[in-house]
Amino acid sequence: MILQLKILATIEDLSNALSTEVGSRSLGFVPTMGALHEGHLRLISNSVSDNTFTICSIFINPIQFNNQDDFSNYPKTLKSDLEKLEISKCDYAFVPGVETIYPENFKPKHYELGSLENILEGAYRPNHFQGVCTVVHRFLDLINPTVMYLGRKDYQQCKVIQKMMQLVNLDSKIQLCLVETVRSNDGLALSSRNMRLGPLGKKKAVFLSQCLQTAKETISKNLGSNMDFSAIQTALISTLKNNGFDSVDYFEFVNENFVPIKTLSCAKSNLIVLTAATIESIRLIDNIEIKLYEHTN
Ligand code: AMP
Repeated sequence: MILQLKILATIEDLSNALSTEVGSRSLGFVPTMGALHEGHLRLISNSVSDNTFTICSIFINPIQFNNQDDFSNYPKTLKSDLEKLEISKCDYAFVPGVETIYPENFKPKHYELGSLENILEGAYRPNHFQGVCTVVHRFLDLINPTVMYLGRKDYQQCKVIQKMMQLVNLDSKIQLCLVETVRSNDGLALSSRNMRLGPLGKKKAVFLSQCLQTAKETISKNLGSNMDFSAIQTALISTLKNNGFDSVDYFEFVNENFVPIKTLSCAKSNLIVLTAATIESIRLIDNIEIKLYEHTN
């Protein structure tokens, strides 16, 4: 039963709530595409404990999908999403229609994201990050939150949104809080797309996080050497393919500035290992951080 959560569908509902109830008090914002799981709810609980008010958007953004099937098959579980938000003490669910976010006169701009846009996810999902920037920018303009919460599970997306906020001068006005990836007990990163996996697929999907963990352990054992990452990369891609993954788009190492790193001696900051692979026609992504230095970004 929904008692506390207020459901806002239009810009009018949203601006009334923001001006009459929130005012100048702190507002945490969690953008989502729904099909909420414990990963999303961790972002919500961080926001609830940090802020006076929390707003969660549920919007399946058509312009960030480069695959029509992925868009049409994206899970939709609004009723249970709203119940989860209520239990999590979220104050507002913003559930707009496509015409509210993209009215006829809306003109998307182009964001100069540089190399971030063309590598890894960007290379496999043309225009995806422009679509992500467009929708998040639109939400930030409408909501003007104090803090926005994003999951490290989508690490490249975090970097892209950070860059977009700098480009449109929102970085000094709105804080970004990056939240650690929430995993099931076997290590699988929670994702709305996991719902589409069968029991065997779910079991085998665990290899994705296990391979990232293996990469981390191998690198940690070789600290101080000039280890070349290509051997681990080839071995772990084979492991994934031999264990039920149909294809592996990438298994790559980048530094905190998202520059690809090929050898351990080139790593002058912490490393992030990122992978994307498909199992049962479901494309999953995951990443792991390898701390080589004490500072955090
Ligand atoms: P999505 O609904 O997939 O667009 O995700 C909405 C937000 O939840 C994004 O900032 C994601 O990075 C974050 N998120 C998704 N899965 C997880 C997870 N397993 N752990 C932490 N955050 C997550």
